Order: sequence, then structure tokens, then C-alpha cells
Amino acid sequence: MKLSWRTYQLHLKHPFTIARGSSCVRSSVIVTLDHDGIVGFGEAAPSPRYGESAETVTDYLSSLSSELSGETPESLSVRLSSAAGGNCAARAAVDIAIHDWKGRKSSLPLWRLWGLDASNTPLTSFTIGIDSPETIEQKVREADDCPILKVKAGVDGDEDIVKKIRTMTDKPIRVDANEGWKVKELARDKILWLEEQKVEFVEQPMPADRLDDVRWLRAQVHIPLIADESAATIADLPALRDAFDGINIKLMKCGGIAPARAMIDRARSLGLKVMLGCMIESSVGIAAAMHLSPLADYADLDGNLLIDDDPFDGPVTRAGAMILDERPGLGVSPRK
Ligand code: MG
Repeated sequence: MKLSWRTYQLHLKHPFTIARGSSCVRSSVIVTLDHDGIVGFGEAAPSPRYGESAETVTDYLSSLSSELSGETPESLSVRLSSAAGGNCAARAAVDIAIHDWKGRKSSLPLWRLWGLDASNTPLTSFTIGIDSPETIEQKVREADDCPILKVKAGVDGDEDIVKKIRTMTDKPIRVDANEGWKVKELARDKILWLEEQKVEFVEQPMPADRLDDVRWLRAQVHIPLIADESAATIADLPALRDAFDGINIKLMKCGGIAPARAMIDRARSLGLKVMLGCMIESSVGIAAAMHLSPLADYADLDGNLLIDDDPFDGPVTRAGAMILDERPGLGVSPRK
């Protein structure tokens, strides 16, 4: 078995701004797993929020690939599942490549391999990053065929963004504060106002470690609160039960498809709603989450739609509907 990889720079169609910062380009490492004449693809979209970069990913891959003698995709999968934490995006890339390989080996798309119903995918939202009113207007117009908008907030004046969008559309809006509201009373006032704007739910209103404040907040507001930065891995979940109504699972945070499936089961057992989200990713990482999406209540799988230079083709999204087809594995192929 052989692992190889290549780092891509994914360029955003618009500079992407959230409460933590802004970017025009994001690194992504595409992994290729070659075994028995079958090739599987995976992706790491490292996030500085979780201490990862293209370098930490490629360091991890270099070290892993030097210890693959006698290993098969199946045995490597077992080894990854018992490995220590950290390097989640890098491990996700290998885990996704193993799943793609297994799907191709059995000539089945992953959703079929897992016995899921491809007609049960939730509609995905489309993300509108923080921007000037003029650019927000342009972005909302570009998202005309997307039935659900996810709006980034968590900065001073974020009400203006929602106000602007509400002058243009009655579509469902979900708001993501990315830990941006630091004071619980401020978060409460923002959310009560967002409720009047018919916002469906709010993601990560406060910093990840402020669970006591979020517990207080949850009792003051009426719409669901979804944990993202507070819910990186399965170990985080028990503490979230009384603070949040649901969690946003990302393959890059938790280490791939296998950990995400375990996280979905755990969330259900705790009575938490499940959202599947993403980083800025190519169609490889997005496809992996799409195949899991029949298990989710909500989807925010638009990372590939926000970039200009996706190096892969994969399952398409049409008017928010994610279309899983019969291509084996992830159903992705490199663009020529
Ligand atoms: Mg989020």
C-alpha cells in the first residue's frame, strides 16, 4: 500500500471573513491511497483554529507513510481508530481515502455501502461571510438558487448584515457567530433580535470553553443553539448536553468518516441534533460528508461551492440538494 499527497491552494470566489479573521486562499492536502491496483482519494483541510497547517498535515503523512510495510487499508483503518488524538485533518484525509478505496473495491458508492437512502440528504445551506452591505447584496443575489443561507456574524454591526439580507429575501437563515460574542448578555440580546428576524438557529454564539454561559443563554432564548467549536470530537459531547440543542460535526475536526459516524451515534444517544459541516474544502472532503448526510438533520456542505479552483469533480449540489449518484466510493475524480 502506498500513500502519496499533494498540497493545493484553494482560492475563494470572495474573500471569506468570519469573526476570527479573513482569508482569500486556503491550503488543502489531497491524499492518494494506492493498493491492489485501486486508488482512493482523501483530503485534509487544516484549520489554524485547531492548530493545524499544510505543514503539520504533510509531516504527519510523511511519518505515517514510512510505517506502512505489510499494512492494508483495513488494518490501517483499525490502527487509526486506536491512535491518539491530534492531527485530525491529517487523519481525516487518510480515513477518507480508505473509505473511498473500500467503496471502489466493492464497486459501490459509500451511501449504498452503509445502507443509507440517498433521497434522504438534507438541503445544504450556503454561507455568506461577513462583508460590506454592497458585497452582501451581491452574494445574496449569487446565492439566488440556494434555499437556505448561513450567515456569518459575531462582530460589531452584525445586525446590519442580517437586516440587509432580510430586505432581499425571506429564505431560512442560520447564523454562525464563530465564538464572537464574548459577553452572555450581549449574546442573549443578539439572539432575541435574530429570533424576530426569523433566524432558524444560532451556531457557536460564545467561546468554546464557556459552557456555563451558554447554559444560561440557552434558558434565555427560544431558537436552537448548535455547537461547532465546542464540539470538536466525541469526547466533547457529554458536557454539551444541557448547553446546546445540537452539534456541527466536521470530518476535519473529528478525524474522518469513522469518528464522525461514532459521533453521530453518541449525539443521538444524548438527544442532540446533528448537523454536518465543513471547512473550505474541495469536492473530495465535501463528498465524504455528503455520503453521511442522510444521517444528519442539517447540512452546511458548501466549502467546494465557495472556491474557484476545485481540483476535483464530485457529487453535485443543485439548488441546495446534494445529489448522491452510483459512482463508487466518494464518486470523485480529478479534474484534468
Ligand atoms: Mg461554525
